[in-house]
Amino acid sequence: MRKKLIAGNWKMNLGPADSAKLAQDILNAASGNDKADIVIAPTYTSLDRVSGIIHGSNVKLSAQDMHWEEQGAFTGKISWDMLKELNVEYAILGHSEQRTFFHETNQTVNMKTKKALEKSLIPIVCVGETLEERESGKTNAVCEDHVRGAFQGISKEDAVKCIIAYEPVWAIGTGKNATPEQAQDVHAFIRNLLKEMYDEGAASTIRILYGGSMKPDNAAGLLSKPDIDGGLIGGASLKADSFLGIINAAP
Ligand code: PEP
Repeated sequence: MRKKLIAGNWKMNLGPADSAKLAQDILNAASGNDKADIVIAPTYTSLDRVSGIIHGSNVKLSAQDMHWEEQGAFTGKISWDMLKELNVEYAILGHSEQRTFFHETNQTVNMKTKKALEKSLIPIVCVGETLEERESGKTNAVCEDHVRGAFQGISKEDAVKCIIAYEPVWAIGTGKNATPEQAQDVHAFIRNLLKEMYDEGAASTIRILYGGSMKPDNAAGLLSKPDIDGGLIGGASLKADSFLGIINAAP
């Protein structure tokens, strides 16, 4: 039985003071909550403050990205050891905003995923199609390309440590979520693909989150589907009430 995981991606929102307040509010409400694994991903400049607040609790820390190199001349980038020093445990990799605006490719997602695994960070690998790709019937092909690309050369033993987030690009930040049935279809497709790439055991272990305008009022429907193992939440993770509403919607 896969435990649900609810992750909040704060994107480029909230400075250290506001992040500390939100983290504290989430911790106050979610401390001891066993319905789901809870992860929050503040901006880099807020990681230190937030880490101090949630350290030792059931609320875990994620970065929104990380570089595949350990150090050096990579202006603007952050490496795994800088994250580990702040007790970061997860890294969101291949988010569609990285793919769209910052030249993220399957190859860079693959390099980041390998490095994260090597250094014991848990990758949350994002995949998903654009509206144009969905309308031209390419949803499964795009997701297959993203999953195969990200997991290229990764062993089954490492693959089972990863989390996948299916995030249809047309649903991110638009208020238009995929219906539970649309999301379930793609999740089942991805799970079947993992079975083909690895085996039944790996496919039934890897958690596949849904992301794209998940909110307290649509979360229960999505989270009740058999292959939807949680959510990656953008907008609704910026308020403790709505983030908690989603956690509490987990069956
Ligand atoms: C996201 O960016 O990962 C996301 C799912 O955003 P939103 O919930 O705002 O659609």
